[in-house]
Amino acid sequence: MKQSSVAIVGAGPTGLSCGIALKQRGVDALIFEKGCVVNSIYNYPTNMSFFTTPELLEIGGIPMTSLNEKPNRTEALKYYRRVASYYGLHVNQYERIDSVTGVDGSFHIRSTTRDGQQHEYACEKVILATGYYDIPVLLNVPGEDLPKVIHYYKESHPYFDHDVLVVGGKNSAAIAALELHWSGARVTVLHRGLQISDSVKYWIKPNLENRIKAGEIQAYFQSSVKEIREREVVIETPAGTVTIANDFVFAMTGYQPDLRFLASVGITLDPATGKPRLNPDTYESETPGIYLAGVLVAGCTPTKCLSKQVTR
Ligand SMILES: Cc1cc2nc3c(=O)[nH]c(=O)nc-3n(C[C@H](O)[C@H](O)[C@H](O)COP(=O)(O)OP(=O)(O)OC[C@H]3O[C@@H](n4cnc5c(N)ncnc54)[C@H](O)[C@@H]3O)c2cc1C
Repeated sequence: MKQSSVAIVGAGPTGLSCGIALKQRGVDALIFEKGCVVNSIYNYPTNMSFFTTPELLEIGGIPMTSLNEKPNRTEALKYYRRVASYYGLHVNQYERIDSVTGVDGSFHIRSTTRDGQQHEYACEKVILATGYYDIPVLLNVPGEDLPKVIHYYKESHPYFDHDVLVVGGKNSAAIAALELHWSGARVTVLHRGLQISDSVKYWIKPNLENRIKAGEIQAYFQSSVKEIREREVVIETPAGTVTIANDFVFAMTGYQPDLRFLASVGITLDPATGKPRLNPDTYESETPGIYLAGVLVAGCTPTKCLSKQVTR
């Protein structure tokens, strides 16, 4: 059985950052990543630009540069690869952690590699930096399992000259709706709220609202999806049930942490905040010896967290 004093689950910006901080203190942690380094960022929309400026994405004291005011996805991928190799971090990519058993000071970790091999490791401490991007929040309506339903928007080209429905009213939905519109898709936006959310970035929101005002993008507010069919979608609107022609549905309804995995290591969420319970000073979880880090700690809105989970 392979040994490591600290195992870090997740090689996102946080997992890498934890690895660097430990290395700087003489602790050689082993980082496990079920996909590639910064897998969540890799799965972001292809042409995405971050909302924040480079210095807010920096780790390990390494400056991040960008040709633009805000870095794009490609620049971020390159930056985190460079930082990981600069610090010589041990990242086992394409190795998913399936279980963590044992007690503080003596944990057993089981993993599966992309070719299906099972491995076991022993370690004294565990850091979970598993993020929240792997589990989409479902609509839970008939037809959601059709291949035309997409929870992760990548890019717009394949949807040229097609009828697409974008469900959601926040940043991911707004960005997808605009990109799809600019690429010649016939876009309809559907949101259960009264209007596009105020949390949408100030340089994106007016653009989408103007497209809607101009009738270039159709919109249904205070509405919800009732059923998804091969060639149409049935929606509930304040004016009654409406059926619209449809080729693709982008369900940009948010994401949530892997609650099953968290529960399997004894970590529960505070129902009020959706945040995992932990010691606010040390970030040690309810299970002694297991620490939580990154966006995972931010929690999620209870309504989202409690919805049915389907692992990606
Ligand atoms: C579209 C979008 C735009 C965003 N823009 C910004 C922005 O502009 N600025 C900003 O500050 N933040 C932004 N965020 C939020 C930011 O991406 C996250 O805060 C950041 O990625 C969190 O880093 P993390 O390391 O905590 O989690 P993640 O980056 O999600 O990393 C978690 C890693 O854990 C891995 N993992 C999960 N489970 C396992 C397992 N069982 N075994 C092995 N590996 C596992 C995952 O594959 C993943 O690589 C954005 C998020 C999204 C979705």
